[in-house]
Amino acid sequence: MLKALELAGFKSFADRTRFDFPDGITVVVGPNGSGKSNIVDAIKWVLGSQSAKSLRGKDMSDVIFKGSQTRAAANAAEATIIFENADGNLPVDAPEVHVTRRVYRSGESEYLINNQAVRLKDVRDLIRGTGIGIDAYSLIEQGKVDRMLQANAKDRRAIFEEAAGISRFKAKKVEAERRLARVQTNLTRLGDIVDEVG
Ligand code: ATP
Repeated sequence: MLKALELAGFKSFADRTRFDFPDGITVVVGPNGSGKSNIVDAIKWVLGSQSAKSLRGKDMSDVIFKGSQTRAAANAAEATIIFENADGNLPVDAPEVHVTRRVYRSGESEYLINNQAVRLKDVRDLIRGTGIGIDAYSLIEQGKVDRMLQANAKDRRAIFEEAAGISRFKAKKVEAERRLARVQTNLTRLGDIVDEVG
């Protein structure tokens, strides 16, 4: 369950800012341009969104606080999403799971799970099938309802599979099949060599 979100130097959130999401419904209100959508952008970003456009920017470095009349620009943007894991729903042996993404102006970037450096793939594996991912349906933005209604049967099935937690096993199966195919190629090559030598 989503417990909190911490931002620092991310878009309009220059200072470290924490949002707590207690049980029930959380509503974010504020005037136009005050940064409400930036919170959703941060969730997508920390979960691995690779598309600047989907974060409403031109370049990935656009997520870094660019400074204002009174403050200098930030050198890095950071977002941490905090999941409650007392029920062990996520495959991490800790009661809370912190997923952090950081990007520096130099272009360097990193992902952390509970403060340990990991690959983007590890973040994807962690959240796949939880229904939280960037391709999942926990973030319903403008236009998405239309796309869901107009989806063909195959795409609609993918929506249910993600919600039911099947998609993570499907991805694992594809990976295993690819590995098997590689082993098969190696075996064939080995057979050829044995024939040549023998
Ligand atoms: P609306 O109700 O109009 O959709 P909103 O509350 O959702 O508004 P956002 O779109 O989240 O607002 O916030 C946009 C604001 O974030 C703008 O004021 C923009 O200048 C600011 N912003 C975006 N990227 C950066 C950045 N890199 N550095 C500083 N400010 C930024």
